[in-house]
Formats: sequence, C-alpha cells, structure tokens
Amino acid sequence: MSAISDEEVLARFPRTAIDHDNKHYYKGLLERKLLVNRCRACGSWRQPPRPICSDCWSTDIEPVEVSGRAVIHLLIFLHQGPPAPGVDYSTPYPVAVVELEEQEGLRFSTTIVNADPQTLRIGLPVTLTWLERDGNPFPAFSPASPASPASPASV
Ligand SMILES: [Zn+2]
Repeated sequence: MSAISDEEVLARFPRTAIDHDNKHYYKGLLERKLLVNRCRACGSWRQPPRPICSDCWSTDIEPVEVSGRAVIHLLIFLHQGPPAPGVDYSTPYPVAVVELEEQEGLRFSTTIVNADPQTLRIGLPVTLTWLERDGNPFPAFSPASPASPASPASV
C-alpha cells in the first residue's frame, strides 16, 4: 500500500510511539495524505486508530485517505505552553478539534492556520492543508475558501 517502510517511519518520527495500529497514519503523513482507519465490514471510520472496529468488532480495518473537508467542532487558544516545534503561543496558538465530513463524530485534533484568530468559530468549514514541522509534513486546517475548491490555481 505504501512505499514507505516501517523502518523509515520509525526513523522519521523518533519521538512518537509508532505501533502497528497507527503506523499507516504516520506513513500517510510522509506522503501528505491524511489516512483514517475504516472498517471494511461495516464502513465505520475510527480516529485515533484502533485494531478493532468499535461498531461491529471486526478486525478487518484499512487506512483510507479522507477528503480533508471538515468543520471546527472545538476551539481553544493557547497563550502559553511547553516549547514545541512550529508552535507560537504569542499569536496565540489555536488548538482545534475538527469533525471530518466522512462521518458524524469523526474528529481530528489539529491547528488552524491562514486565519485571523478573531474570525474562527465553532462550525466554520475548514480544509486540510500541510505544514512542515520538525522536518515532516504536519496536517493542519485552514478556513475553506468560499470559491469552488475545484478551480485550478490561477496563472
Ligand atoms: Zn465495523
């Protein structure tokens, strides 16, 4: 499925506890794909990754790329915190839980970028974007453009 080996993903995320349940998620990050485990038996999505479907108890789970469309479900602003790569508390730093469009209740913890913090609110549509953090792609979200996302980049 992925060209990235287990050894490479372990080497690229030395401070992360990689296991057989979440390794596909981290391999996906290296390919700038947001992968969420989905049950092949009942179609239910699950984040964070677990080895067993919480709906039907099937172990037939596969990582599937999500669309990247979501809405802000929960939002807080951190004014202080431990030093972390790419985190600027002076702005302050938004921490968001977004609900992915694939399934009600399917939520993902992230940050919001390319936005005035004053304009952010619960329910705001957002789309996936990629940052570079600590040498690896990092999934963040930014407010969805009111224009059609299908239009190609202008020249
Ligand atoms: Zn299931």
